[in-house]
Amino acid sequence: MDWYRKKEEELEKELGTNYENGLTEKEVNKRLKHFGANKLDEGKKISNLALFISQFKDFMVLVLLVATFISGLLGEYIDAITIMFIVLLNGILGFVQERKAEKSLDALKELSAPQMNVLRNGIWVKILSSQVVPGDIVKLKSGDRVGADIRLFSANGLSIEESSLTGESVPVQKQTTAIEKDAVEIGDQKNIAFMGTMVTQGNGIGAVIATGMSTEMGKIAHLLQTTESLETPLQRRLEQLGKILIIIALILTAMVVLAGVLQGHDLYTMFLSGVSLAVAAIPEGLPAIVTVALALGVQRMIKRKAIVRKLPAVETLGCATVICSDKTGTLTQNNMTVTQVWSGGKNWKVSGNGYAPEGDFSANGKVVDVKREKALMQLLSYSMLCNNAKLVQKTDKKGLLRKEEKNYMIDGDPTEGALVVAGMKAGYNEETLAEHFERIHEFPFDSTRKMMSVIVQDAGGRRFVVTKGAPDVILSQCNSLMYQNNKEALTPKRKAEVEATLTKMANYALRTIAVAYKPLNKGEKCQTAFEAERNLTLVGIQGMIDPPRPEVIDSVRECREAGIKTVMITGDHQLTACAIAQEIGIMSKYGQSLTGKELSKMSTEELVEVVDDVDVYARVSPEHKLKIVKALQKKGHVVAMTGDGVNDAPAIKAANIGIAMGITGTDVAKEASSLILSDDNFATIKDAIKEGRNIYENIRKFIRYMLASNVGEILVMLIAMILGMPLPLVAIQILWINLVTDGLPALALGMDQAEGDVMKRKPRSQFEGVFARGLAWKIISRGFMIGIVTLAAFWITFQGHPDELIRAQTVAFVTLVMAQLIHVFDCRSEYSVYHRNPFENRYLVVAVILSTLLMLVVIYFPPLQTIFHTVALDTREWLLVLGMAAIPTVVLGGFQLFKKSEKKEDAISNS
Ligand code: ATP
Repeated sequence: MDWYRKKEEELEKELGTNYENGLTEKEVNKRLKHFGANKLDEGKKISNLALFISQFKDFMVLVLLVATFISGLLGEYIDAITIMFIVLLNGILGFVQERKAEKSLDALKELSAPQMNVLRNGIWVKILSSQVVPGDIVKLKSGDRVGADIRLFSANGLSIEESSLTGESVPVQKQTTAIEKDAVEIGDQKNIAFMGTMVTQGNGIGAVIATGMSTEMGKIAHLLQTTESLETPLQRRLEQLGKILIIIALILTAMVVLAGVLQGHDLYTMFLSGVSLAVAAIPEGLPAIVTVALALGVQRMIKRKAIVRKLPAVETLGCATVICSDKTGTLTQNNMTVTQVWSGGKNWKVSGNGYAPEGDFSANGKVVDVKREKALMQLLSYSMLCNNAKLVQKTDKKGLLRKEEKNYMIDGDPTEGALVVAGMKAGYNEETLAEHFERIHEFPFDSTRKMMSVIVQDAGGRRFVVTKGAPDVILSQCNSLMYQNNKEALTPKRKAEVEATLTKMANYALRTIAVAYKPLNKGEKCQTAFEAERNLTLVGIQGMIDPPRPEVIDSVRECREAGIKTVMITGDHQLTACAIAQEIGIMSKYGQSLTGKELSKMSTEELVEVVDDVDVYARVSPEHKLKIVKALQKKGHVVAMTGDGVNDAPAIKAANIGIAMGITGTDVAKEASSLILSDDNFATIKDAIKEGRNIYENIRKFIRYMLASNVGEILVMLIAMILGMPLPLVAIQILWINLVTDGLPALALGMDQAEGDVMKRKPRSQFEGVFARGLAWKIISRGFMIGIVTLAAFWITFQGHPDELIRAQTVAFVTLVMAQLIHVFDCRSEYSVYHRNPFENRYLVVAVILSTLLMLVVIYFPPLQTIFHTVALDTREWLLVLGMAAIPTVVLGGFQLFKKSEKKEDAISNS
């Protein structure tokens, strides 16, 4: 179809749509059925069967299966069947874990799925891009990723970067007129916005002409299928570690087998035991549990409103040393109310709270009749003309408007909303203004220019430009001002007066907006914002409060305690920013701030010198953010950086943790980010960091548990064989321990709560290895102790009597299981088992009880006794078992605790 040739009217008819109201719900459903969801085909997913089979691909498991098969042939049916059963169960567990992890990661993708602004049933709504159908009327704005092929019929300075489709990185200026040519190349179809391209400037409206695989992007989709690796650095490191551990485990098991055979044990038994030991000792479950722990942590983050887009961010979060945060909406509430106004040389105070359009204007403490204040009225009305926000009032069940303050909301930018509300307090409303002034053109706000302008025409046909924006920027474009109802030249004296007013407002932490205008001569045209926003006349200034989010003050303090510095980066005025930064606790009285202008003059090296001392960057453009990130990184910081606009994307990408705003963020910022805050709130970053630290600690916890258990298991066998003892454990017992005792509690450790002081510790170094901070020592020492006590319990029971072998093996089996199940509680703390309430983690308590019960069944249920080579234990044996099992954790932990407190006392008495 040559959609670019169609005229607006033809398009409406051929697409069977309606420009005024969009499609109806019924029509949408019909089209969704016909055209399918608006999605590009993804690569095929691994099938359930393939995933299940892959669980048994591990080399040692295959060897075990072959060994089992051989033992089956030798007539050891019970052994063979049981081992098969355990291997199968292990496979099912691995399968379930992997699918669960995958599912939660898929759910994550859906949460950050793109949305589009669509006209349905006469109302503009935001819906998932996948639900868009041909004929839908959609709006595009700067920062959007275009979600379908769209024929434009309105374009306002609309520029689209189409490199993903055409390879051309210079944005294309879009237009709406039909193109009367044949076979126009995609790059020249200027009235069409293509799926997958990116709006860099302006806004536009159009009708969807193609969705999903029928779009131009869909036609080349097979070229684009890139699969982004979801593996985190830790997972990669663990994979390498796993390979080393396999080799160590194999060498040790070979030693066990060799020592056993040399000591006269028969080859078949030693082979089976060796293979079982290898299966148990190789931490094949490690990667799967890491994935599960990451996925579960990510789910907890979602509950706290932080959506992880890139899994590696979860780890990096725990290393963050600096958070660079936007001010408006993230540190503050983005709930603006105009409280002070300056116009025509006079100051006014405005009363009223929130967005309710009720309040008075007063000067010198006296309420005034605003209608008589010409300059003030001009400022208020112009602020409403150069404005895209709307005040919306909620209705109750009967459809009546609700009066209370909280029921007024702003549809649009809150800064503009505050100006609308101030105007309404003076009696203006949008409808009457629209009757008198027609908007001819808009130059949209952007945070680099820090201004927005409109060209309007009044009832008499006169045209003029109205501009509003950051006062310092506007002032530099003014050559006159309205003063006591007259137009005057902007002399240095008047300029100083305006600047003093600005300083005063900013010191009160007010966000300031200046309004200016310029009459246009007949026929005079302004093609660009640059032409329009020059030689202006200042009308006045409005100052609005934007209170800090109450929870932010605590969050900033908590971050400081956690060794993380918070830095404010804002487009707002320097004094306003500093006043708020002090209120929040980001900046001390003597803290430093830098402005965008100062930043531009500095080289990166100069910035690196001072970067550690700066708390606030004000009046910066998004481009400055990249420089700040780079300087901080050069200083060795791990940087988290927030952003929302198109121009923030490079800094978000460059930061170690790029954070995009969920509510105000553009698609482009979100795509560049690794974390999205669904509530735009700074406190959520702190929560995510806490969760990130916790996830990492949990991974360390179960690595500690699993490996210490494995060390224990190998040592029991190895030492026994070297010392010429009988086998302390039979193959099936080892496999059982691997499945039940090692698996369940390890999984529960992955869901553990954070240790109380997790946010009081310094950030972890990015280069820290998994075994840092004494983990390796803990694993070896505790593993060694577990091995020794098991062997001791075995020998005490056995004492060289062959009739007691099964009893002694049962004692060894139970001691090993119990020692591990007690040790698991030790793994929860960086310090000792006594530092945490053992019942806090319910999953762990359940896992431990379950493992214990299963063990009891194995030793007390007669049919299982034959299979697992066990006997029932008596009280004396139980006392021995529990006494021995407690040594590695309870006794040694208590001993350490005692020694530490003794040392502390010594230190106190010596000082
Ligand atoms: P942050 O980066 O903390 O979100 P910000 O929202 O204050 O900062 P910008 O949106 O870049 O930063 O705004 C910079 C300045 O531009 C503001 O201080 C204000 O004076 C002016 N400004 C903000 N919004 C508008 C608007 N819609 N129209 C005109 N001027 C605006």
